[in-house]
Amino acid sequence: NEDVDSVDLSKLNEAQKQAVTAPPKPLAIIAGPGSGKTRVLTYRALFAVKEWHLPPERILAITFTNKAADELKERLGRLIPEGDRIFAATMHSFAARMLRYFAPYAGISQNFVIYDDDDSKGLIEDILKQMNMDTKRFRPNDVLNHISAAKARMFDCNTFPEFIRQRYGSWGYYFDTVHQVFMTYERLKEQSQALDFDDLIMVLAQRMEDRPELREMIAGLFDLVMVDEFQDTNFAQYQMLLYMTNPHYSGMNNVTIVGDPDQSIYGFRAAEYYNIKRFIDDYNPEVVFLDLNYRSNRTIVDSASALINDSPSALFERKLESIKGAGNKLILRRPFDDADAAITAAFEVQRLHKMGIPYEEIAVLMRTRALTARVEREFATRNIQYHIIGGVPFFARREIKDILAYLRLSRNAMDRVSLKRILTMKKRGFGTASLEKLFNFAEENKLTLLEAMKAAVESLLFKKLSMNDYLESLYTLIQTIQEIAEPSQAIYLVMEQENLLDHFRSISKSEEEYIERTENVKQLISIAEESADMDDFLQRSALGTRENNGGVEGVAISTVHGVKGLEFQAVILYYVTDGFFPHSLSVTTAEKEEERRLLYVAMTRAKEHLIFYVPYKQPWGNGFEQMARPSPFLRSIPKELWDGKPNEIESLYAPYSPQQKWSE
Ligand code: ATP
Ligand code: MG
Repeated sequence: NEDVDSVDLSKLNEAQKQAVTAPPKPLAIIAGPGSGKTRVLTYRALFAVKEWHLPPERILAITFTNKAADELKERLGRLIPEGDRIFAATMHSFAARMLRYFAPYAGISQNFVIYDDDDSKGLIEDILKQMNMDTKRFRPNDVLNHISAAKARMFDCNTFPEFIRQRYGSWGYYFDTVHQVFMTYERLKEQSQALDFDDLIMVLAQRMEDRPELREMIAGLFDLVMVDEFQDTNFAQYQMLLYMTNPHYSGMNNVTIVGDPDQSIYGFRAAEYYNIKRFIDDYNPEVVFLDLNYRSNRTIVDSASALINDSPSALFERKLESIKGAGNKLILRRPFDDADAAITAAFEVQRLHKMGIPYEEIAVLMRTRALTARVEREFATRNIQYHIIGGVPFFARREIKDILAYLRLSRNAMDRVSLKRILTMKKRGFGTASLEKLFNFAEENKLTLLEAMKAAVESLLFKKLSMNDYLESLYTLIQTIQEIAEPSQAIYLVMEQENLLDHFRSISKSEEEYIERTENVKQLISIAEESADMDDFLQRSALGTRENNGGVEGVAISTVHGVKGLEFQAVILYYVTDGFFPHSLSVTTAEKEEERRLLYVAMTRAKEHLIFYVPYKQPWGNGFEQMARPSPFLRSIPKELWDGKPNEIESLYAPYSPQQKWSE
């Protein structure tokens, strides 16, 4: 919502000015929430164009979400005509672009496809079944997490045992099996010329490490590299940046990072906030601290500071002051149960709205996605407009992935995940055994999957006529798509030939669901029409599967992770109870500290109104409700900052022993 209209430095405080105009050398900006870090990044890009005369496309800005990247581009585009040419991207989309661009130098196929989390999980499940493993004991999700954790630290399938020993100090049947799956997973992915999300970063970092000419070429593209939310980078991402921007490895040296160790909340994806310290050691940068908060009133800043100052881990001295007045006190609500909480929230939103706060400036934030359902229903019945941040992302929806499978296969005739999807999305007679037969047939005869389809028909690999007919028609269809340059044309063709509307109707449980799916297809076509070409389109769609870029109208309902870097007039923190903050799954001290930081991030999204929901009962497991205790983190907040019933406020501070029963 901020507006930068020129490099008007008068709109910055002294420390911000210093950061924006610092000489073109390594620079670290370390500061708390709402202190203008992202704003400084934008100004610095503008400053680099205006004052250093850098061409915008030679400025790389790495942001945490695709949405933030688009916003940055758009903002700069409004300020200077060529501003939208800045290279703004997420770590993953940046890595994907570089790998595609320099494929021959990185030794990978230019046509590689990107497997999203779902594709990877599916492949792992296939492998486990093939090995006759119990997928309850070896849950595909867990296996993928182990693989992902290894790759985030630059361990591949060969060095995996080393990683596990370092991490858990042990090795046994379980990890031995995971290791086998990992090896097969890599082999199949290589056959499919596919890279998963973690590969994008790890492979690029590995290749840059091994090939000086590659890192020189990549470094040579940029005059300034900037990274927002640096505290949430992992080791592999750090290495990727290091090879590209550290004078020890490349000719590049002008890098700016922005971060706040207290807002590090991606430990579960192997983010290491110590990377900020590491950056200081590796680059010897100029360091700028900002300590004025422009976002939130004093009550909010003071309560959040009290919370974080109780944390034992501080990498840097914390100092944060609001430039605003005390403002409203924190509001405490203690609804009875889930139903009561949802209704109270709906009234709350209406109350805030009547005060003149637009729905877009209100957020309901929660620890986990599972809590959204009841609130959504309540809002819907009362006609309160809302959108979900972090729901099923658009590009991860079934109908979208079904359509894209054909397009992906047309670009990469080796992509087995896509072929499997096509052959099994409708009843076509293809089951696990016949798929395996087809894949083996291709492997034995050294054919691409596309060639194998044709050869299978010719040699009557399958007895069923209908299966042969389908393979033949699919072969022709894919070949036709290969001739088509415009992604939208290809989509129309696939929809018609494959009768996909009928298919979408048959998988929909209601008319509304069907309509939603067709709306999504329309949306997909319009995105396709905006894409430069098929590769551009497919890349965007693969990288969009972790993010929901849906509507932005109405109240935002989101997990805390989903609103990183954002701000709202009013924030409702839903279920600030023990079990959600900290989450019951967090056990170690480090995990619990991450939960504290998560609450810190949540609180600091609010500008004026911060409202805590601490119900007496909370949903637990399969629809059961349990007595809930207030989050222990709330004890850090000074009592006088609260507005609420005195006995309810007191209840936040009531001592309890950890052994005490839930049903106290
Ligand atoms: P976070 O850690 O949550 O990402 P941040 O440090 O990136 O926060 P910004 O989002 O850049 O903070 O800024 C917070 C708000 O304060 C924005 O609305 C921004 O426009 C405003 N702001 C920052 N600096 C100034 C300033 N010097 N004058 C006026 N407004 C400012
Ligand atoms: Mg920011």
